[in-house]
Amino acid sequence: MTNHRLQGIGMTSRRTRERMAARLRDQGIHDQRVLSVMADTPRHIFVDEALESRAYEDTALPIGHNQTISQPYIVAKMTELLLEQGNVRKVLEIGTGSGYQTAILAKLVDQVYTVERLDPLLRKAKDLLWELNIKSVGFRHGDGALGWPEHAPYDAILAAAAPLQPPPELLKQLSIGGVLVIPLGLDGQQALHRITRDAEGYVDETIEPVYFVPFLPGVS
Ligand code: SAH
Repeated sequence: MTNHRLQGIGMTSRRTRERMAARLRDQGIHDQRVLSVMADTPRHIFVDEALESRAYEDTALPIGHNQTISQPYIVAKMTELLLEQGNVRKVLEIGTGSGYQTAILAKLVDQVYTVERLDPLLRKAKDLLWELNIKSVGFRHGDGALGWPEHAPYDAILAAAAPLQPPPELLKQLSIGGVLVIPLGLDGQQALHRITRDAEGYVDETIEPVYFVPFLPGVS
């Protein structure tokens, strides 16, 4: 990919990204690190070329295989909730999708591990992160319900697909003090949760209503 395409022009330019970050601030995102990483990271390269001019609207967009790239507000909100935990260095992401959220996380923490059940999406995300010169991400094709035990425990786990209940393996792979940021519930009635592990157990906070694709079993 040329540098020119990475930087963007017009509707995909730095100025458009800065306007997006300003809107995110108006919507209540206050972590300056999150806002500045989102103003820096090209979102348009993660969507189909035909949709590039819409990449900085606050909307989810199709990425094929019935999946969507998450809305910028949701990416910002989940990232901010996760960073509030303090010393977040190692993060597990479930549902790589386009890789956009992965890129944002990778610029803010030391190490990201990401798991995706659809191999074509995982491969594409891997190539795009390589082009962005992001090297601190481990990719795995697998069922996210199992987490990635070899690298556990994690300071934070972020899930981009909604199960009905938090998968027990993900809860187990949190460090003490770690947080799981995850949408839970049936289509149309989901809420974003932040579940914090402490020495005694787990504390569940309900954050706000959200719309995510379902968390599906198995791989393909
Ligand atoms: N944050 C991503 C959103 C991707 S959509 C982005 O901005 O692009 C959610 C992704 O979760 C989809 O790619 C879907 O295939 C994946 N997914 C759903 N259930 C999963 C599971 N059990 N394990 C791993 N990935 C899963």
